[in-house]
Amino acid sequence: MEISESLRFGTVGSPQTTSTSGTPAAIEHIRQLGLDHLEIAWVQSVRVSDETCALIKAASEKHKVSLSIHAPYYINLNSLTSELMEKSDERLLTAARKGYLAGAYDIVFHPGSYHSQPPEQVYERAKEKLLEITGILREEGVAVTLRPETMGKSAMFGNLDEVVQLSKEVPGIAPCIDWAHLHARTGDGTFNSYEEFADALTRVRNVLGEEGLHRLHFHMSGIAYGTKGEKEHLPLNEADIRYRDLLQAFIDFGVAGTCAIEAPMPFHTSDALTMQATYRRLMNLKPSTDNPDE
Ligand SMILES: [Zn+2]
Repeated sequence: MEISESLRFGTVGSPQTTSTSGTPAAIEHIRQLGLDHLEIAWVQSVRVSDETCALIKAASEKHKVSLSIHAPYYINLNSLTSELMEKSDERLLTAARKGYLAGAYDIVFHPGSYHSQPPEQVYERAKEKLLEITGILREEGVAVTLRPETMGKSAMFGNLDEVVQLSKEVPGIAPCIDWAHLHARTGDGTFNSYEEFADALTRVRNVLGEEGLHRLHFHMSGIAYGTKGEKEHLPLNEADIRYRDLLQAFIDFGVAGTCAIEAPMPFHTSDALTMQATYRRLMNLKPSTDNPDE
């Protein structure tokens, strides 16, 4: 049976098996591995020249590897002072501008903290902020999608419904669903069954429509968690996350987009390959609609 490649798999950050440094080499290595996507981890700061961005873009086009950017961690749509807010804005704008030059379509970022404020109030502030930022980028012709990520701690702004609702209300925003974070967020081991994964995808479809399921971006890994949520990423084979059930839900819902794997060393590359191989295997096991008896 022919495989319909609706999900592209890759790593967050260069695969650890890349022999030379630099993002263009990592892109070439992603292709050698048979993966299709790289999320460039500009997580501390964005210090990349326009010339380097051009090299990254050329490598992406040559090797047909799609790119996303993980923007710096120090972004908070709910910053407590105007000075911090300004710096946060600048980090997100810079990641988007440079990412666009580098040929990335999607800019992933951590949306921020509740700072113990009412979630509805934080949501409204985040929405206003994103309307402002996407407006600036649109005016500049920076055609990227900003993707707030679902967060792994209950004190952090960014549960599934918040991220999906922002995507509906703000043009230029779409979700980055981190499934490990959703599993870890409540600390009680929930969000780890086919039913719960299917329920999450149903919620996405209810708000963003069928086409919302066709342009998703995911983070995935094993994860350790406690009562307050996420502790650390784990390799798939040391974690309880039921990734086969998740992949089956992707297939059953016709999900398309990109999935970036964040496993710790030395499982970084191998977990991305395992996710991709498992997805392809499940696709092949899926009964064909043309031959229902097969
Ligand atoms: Zn992240």
